[in-house]
Order: sequence, then C-alpha cells, then structure tokens
Amino acid sequence: MSKYSNIAHYQDFAELKKLLELSNNTYDMDKITQAYRLAEEAHGDQRRVSGIPYILHPTSVACIVAELGMDTDTICGALLHDVVEDTTVKIEEITKKFGSDVAKLIDGVTKISKIPYSTREEQQAENIRKMLIAMADDIRVIIIKLADRLHNMRTMDCMPEQKRRDKSLENMQVFAPIAHRLGIKTIKDELEDRSLQYLDPIGYKEIEDALLLNEEDRDKFIESIKAQILEKTKETIPNVYISGRVKSINSIYRKTFMQGRTIDQIFDVFAVRVIVDNVADCYNVLGIVHDIFKPIPNRFKDYISMPKPNMYQSLHTTVLDKNAIPFEVQIRTWEMHYTAEYGIAAHWKYKLGMGADKKGEERLSENIQRVKKMILDQLEAEDATDIAKNIRNDFAENDVYVFSPKGDVFSLPQGSTPIDMAYLIHTQVGHRMVGAKINGKIVPFDYKLKTGDICEIITQKEEHPNRAWIDICKTASAKSKIRQWYKHEKRDENIVEGKQLIEREFKRHGINLNEDEYEDFFKKMFIKKQYNTIDDFYAAVGYGGVQLWKIMPRLKEEYQKTYASNIEEITVPQAPVKRHKATSGVVIEGTDDVLVKFSNCCNPLPGDDIIGYITRGYGVSIHKRSCTNVPKDISKSEEPERWVNCYWEDEVGEAFRSTLQITATDRTGLLADVTIRLSNMHIFIHSLNSREAKDGKAIVTATIDVMGRNHLRGVISKLSDINGIEEIKRL
Ligand code: MN
Repeated sequence: MSKYSNIAHYQDFAELKKLLELSNNTYDMDKITQAYRLAEEAHGDQRRVSGIPYILHPTSVACIVAELGMDTDTICGALLHDVVEDTTVKIEEITKKFGSDVAKLIDGVTKISKIPYSTREEQQAENIRKMLIAMADDIRVIIIKLADRLHNMRTMDCMPEQKRRDKSLENMQVFAPIAHRLGIKTIKDELEDRSLQYLDPIGYKEIEDALLLNEEDRDKFIESIKAQILEKTKETIPNVYISGRVKSINSIYRKTFMQGRTIDQIFDVFAVRVIVDNVADCYNVLGIVHDIFKPIPNRFKDYISMPKPNMYQSLHTTVLDKNAIPFEVQIRTWEMHYTAEYGIAAHWKYKLGMGADKKGEERLSENIQRVKKMILDQLEAEDATDIAKNIRNDFAENDVYVFSPKGDVFSLPQGSTPIDMAYLIHTQVGHRMVGAKINGKIVPFDYKLKTGDICEIITQKEEHPNRAWIDICKTASAKSKIRQWYKHEKRDENIVEGKQLIEREFKRHGINLNEDEYEDFFKKMFIKKQYNTIDDFYAAVGYGGVQLWKIMPRLKEEYQKTYASNIEEITVPQAPVKRHKATSGVVIEGTDDVLVKFSNCCNPLPGDDIIGYITRGYGVSIHKRSCTNVPKDISKSEEPERWVNCYWEDEVGEAFRSTLQITATDRTGLLADVTIRLSNMHIFIHSLNSREAKDGKAIVTATIDVMGRNHLRGVISKLSDINGIEEIKRL
C-alpha cells in the first residue's frame, strides 16, 4: 500500500465547497460556483480516459489549489483551466464573466501546457523551467499547472506505460524542481514519489517493503520518541506540537540507489517534527532534545539563522535513541511550518485577509511580481549558494558558515581562512595551530573557507603563531591576536625588526640619520607620550602595532624642521606608497585596515568607476557608481557618511601631483590636523607648509599625490571638515 493511497483520486464540487468553508479565508462563493457551472456545462459529457466524468478533474485540481490556500481567482482558474483548450468556450467569455485576472490565469495555463517538455538533458530541463516561469505572467499560473500535474499523476494508472513514464520523467526534471523552488513541499514530495513509482517500480517497492516490514514497530518507535520529547518540554515550553513521519520514498530512494547506502545508513528515515510558538522556543527544544538523546556529530543544521534559498527555515538535528536508532528532529515555528509546507503559496494565505481593499490588491500584485522575479533570478543563478547570495542582503551575503568537526557553527566574513577560524574558536587554538583540514583534507593556510566546510584545526603543544599569518588571515581580531602574541613573546626580536624597518623606511624617504640619532629624534616627537622607552617604540613597530607608513609624513615633517631647513631639494624616491589591502586591488580613501569585498549586485571590474559602502562590521563593500544600490545623490541619501571613495590599485599607479592652497583661521595644531587627516587618507605628501596671512588667517600649501580627479575632490572634501578651514583651492 502506497503512503498516498489514502488520498482520494477524485474530489467533486461538494468537497471543494467543504474545503473552502473549513479554511480561514474568505472566498467569493458566488463567483466560484459560477465558474464551476460553466466548467461543468462546457465539459458536458466529456470523460477521462478512465471513463470518469471530466468535470471531476478540474474540481480535483481546484481542491489541491484550495488546500494550498490560494485565492478566489486561482480557484476559478483551476476549475476552468481546461475549458479553453478542450471545449468551445472562448477566452473572451471568461474575461467577460470572471474578469481579466481569471482569464489571464487560464490563458497562461493553456499557453504553458503547449510547451513540449520531454527531454533527457538536465540543461534542457533547466531552460524549460526558466521558460515556464518566464511565460507565466503570474506565478499563480504555475501553481495551477502544478496542481493539474499532480492530479494527473494521481490518476495515471489507466494510462499506457509509455505515457506514464514520459510524464513521470517530466515531473522529475521540470515540475518537481519548480515545486521545490517555490517551496511547495507537499506537491514536490508527492509528484516525486508518484513519478518514481512509474520510473522504477521495483526500486520503489523495495523501499516501500523495507519501510513497511515492521510498520507496527515503526509506529511504536515514533510514538515513544514523541512522548519523551513532549514529557521533557511541557514543563517549560507552552504549546508544543509534535508529529512524526517516515521520509518520502523518493528521497530514501535517492540516498539508497544513487549514493549506494542501505536504509540502515540513512539517518533520517524517521523524523520527528516539533512545532512551537516562537524562535526562542525552537532553540530551547533543541537543547532539551540534545539532553535526552545523543546528537550525531555534523548533523546539526541551523536553517533558522541560515534559511534555505526557497525560504525554508527550521532547526535540524539527528540524534540516537537509547537503542542507537538514528532519527531526525526538525524544530520550527508555525510560520516556518507554513512556509515549509506551502512555500510561495503561503504568501497568498497571509495576504488573503486584505484582499478586499484596493491597497491590499495592489500589494498582492506587487508581491506576485516580486516572487516571480525572485524565482527567475534563482533559476538564473548557477547553484544554491548563488541563490542564497542573491537573496540575502549585503550584510549576510558576506558571511560564510563553517562547521567544526563537532558540528558547531562558526560565522566568519567571506575570505576568511582556517587561521581566522582557529582564533575564533579560541586564542590558544590559534597560537597552537600548525595546519588545517577541510572536510578531512589538509589545506594550505590561505585556503578560503566556504559555507558548509567542516574545518578541523590541527594544533601542537607549543604556542607558535607565524608572523606571516597577519597578512594571510582576514579578520581583524585574528590579526590583532597574532600581533599581541608577538608583542609579548618576541620583544627582543621585535626591537631588532622595528629598527630595521625604520632604517629602511628612512632611507627611502631621504631621512639621513644614523642609529645613534634615532633616540633623540624620536624623543622630540610624540613617541615619548605613548612609550616609556625607545625600545618599546621599536618593538611596537616590529610587531606591527605601529604602522610606519602611517606616521612617515609626520616623521618627515619633523625631520625637515629639525635637521634640514632647506629641504626643497630633497627629492623623495617615487616608491609606491604602502596601501592597505593591496591584494583586493582596491584602495579605500580615508579608511585603513578594512575588509574589502565586491558586491554581488553589480560585480565591479577594474576600470569601473567605483564607490565603497561601509557595512556594519563587515568591512567595505565595493559597488559600481552606476549600481542601482548606490544612491544617485549620496549627500541626500540616508547615511551619506557610509559611502567612501575607492580607486582601483592600478589607477593608483598613475598618481599625479597636485598642490592645494588652504585658507584657514590660524590656530595652533592646524598644520598637524591637516597632516594627520592627509596621512589617514594614505595621501603621499611631497611638501607642506604654512604661512601667516592678514586678518588672523593662515595659508597652508600642500603638495600631494592623488589618484585622479575624483580622488582629489574626495581629499578636498575630507580636509574641509577640519576645524577653521575656510577655503581650499587647487593651484
Ligand atoms: Mn488539466
């Protein structure tokens, strides 16, 4: 006996009416009755191949659609879906009697029914799926078509063998995947199971037999699990609803025949579903389930914080009962349950309440368009991860989710390496790391983590992070932990390293001091304020706590003041200015030590005019200036301060020199403020001086390297924020 054997193959209009009455939605029963009458009259004494009156097919389809919670027009469309194709009724008549919406639905179903589907190639099937969705102006057309397909499958037994197989193959390749994308699990599962039954009757039977062999034990097993969970949850969590099921035959089939496993090796043949009122309770239930039963490692999936592309949300975990029988537990809220079972169709259920007023209708049709676009975009995308990216916003798109071998989930910014993961687990794990395995295979340190990777950190007893990791890892916290370690553990080495760095940098900038003079020089400067001894300063440079390129402009200025009053002839070798994130190829104005990522909405390429958006905590995302997500007028946008100028590195190579004349109210610290502001923007300063002008004003002249006109504009605008600055002119 099939698990679907209890589903009535034919449902008549009386049953449809009963279904609609029992639902919580309001329906226009007059309109639906009128649609039924027309269908009944039009199909007349037409019969199905089985000899059953034809009208029972559209009423059955309407019942399936009603169960999905669809609206009045969709029910009418389902009742009338075959009249234009198979009877003398014209589409104009439908428009006149039922309005253009119903007519469009029927026209759509008729149109897409004419597409020749049969194909054996996956690529072709993919194209047909796209075509189907694109041709349907309204996603409700697809839902009627799916219901039509499903009902035909329920009544397929009387069809010739070849036809059954053809239709089954189409279902597997075209319609079940569409139902899956729409998230309509009920239709997807039944379509697949019924199709499988025709495509591989023996394989289907084998599984069915294995499952049914001990039906009584199975029921007992599920009942006992349910009772145990209910017992433990009822004390603390209100309204816990638990159901149990055996997995769909098609999905077991896939795992046994295609992945070569036996039914015993499939963890989720049995599944228990727990439905609660809110998200917090989901996690509470999870805790309790893990208390009662032993969780199987790597089998926990948090689809609540990481919803599937088709909007599916739930917590999944696989656990063992005391006899070591594995079963899956799915935990979700009612809303999630609704979406899981009815997917896209659930949207109509929510929207129906407001169907009466004009605004509600507008919103509904907007919703239809939005959903359709989303599905088309999904079909366009290459795989599930891409789909997820497209749907998630800028914020979340940048995360990867990585599992520890224990099954804990860690969220890291995209581009993170196993080093970042190690430091995220624990500082000690990071310091002791000697290697990493991804999904059981050793990977290099700079491996870029992907969502779903199981990352195992290999450690040794000794702590010994590598200084080079600072450049490899992505997260600021890992970088700083490595620096900290070097700061504390390697002071002597840092001092030597720091001195060497200073020497090298001084040479490049034409600062001619020997080592003995360093101390005096630095003491004069700000250094004494922050560091007790000169060695502390060297050490800081050595471990990277002080970034030399940042303070070079100030050092140079000081040097020029103290040691060489006529510095005009000092030419600075045109060494490239050190810039952060050289690897990303993008320089971000006025920001340092940030994560750079390219947005997926417009995929900027080198040479494109670009702009950056400072995300909340996930670095700067780079967009094309022309991207629709970039406000036309940034100054009028919601958060103008989040937008920053960016440049491609190779454009940076073509830096040109520009001299600015800055007029400001004279005050102490003015020159320092200008210098600091410029150095924060990584601007290379050739010369900078200040002179008094009349009316208590000062004129500062700065010759700097900029990377283009836009960059210069940006620099000027940043400088003009400085207290007292009145005018900035380009000379
Ligand atoms: Mn039909």
